[in-house]
Amino acid sequence: MRANKGSNTKPEMIVRRLLHGLGYRYRVHRKDLPGKPDVAFGPRKKAIFVHGCFWHAHDAAGCKIASRPKSRTDFWEGKFVRNKERDARNVAALEAAGWQVLVVWECELGDSARLGATLTAFLND
Ligand SMILES: [Zn+2]
Repeated sequence: MRANKGSNTKPEMIVRRLLHGLGYRYRVHRKDLPGKPDVAFGPRKKAIFVHGCFWHAHDAAGCKIASRPKSRTDFWEGKFVRNKERDARNVAALEAAGWQVLVVWECELGDSARLGATLTAFLND
């Protein structure tokens, strides 16, 4: 078992479980969509990515998870820049195809009431 990478990571499962509890039906990792969004709602044309703060280099001021490694900083900066560019490309491609996209960050998962409200607002909009 790999703890932090791969397609069924814990942050993603938290969001999927919450959506399921709210009664939404969705598909996961649709290969026909740019970036294979973690969760997709076909009829609504809405997609959700759940990003780990470290790998996707969350740069929000309030984020306590996205620490930057102190060694091999060039290597890591390059990796983070590429990850962020890829994320941005995927969102742009989805939006160009008429999809709405919500990015949920790992550090936002602690407050499930707030997260549930965010998800509901996004999906019912
Ligand atoms: Zn974060």
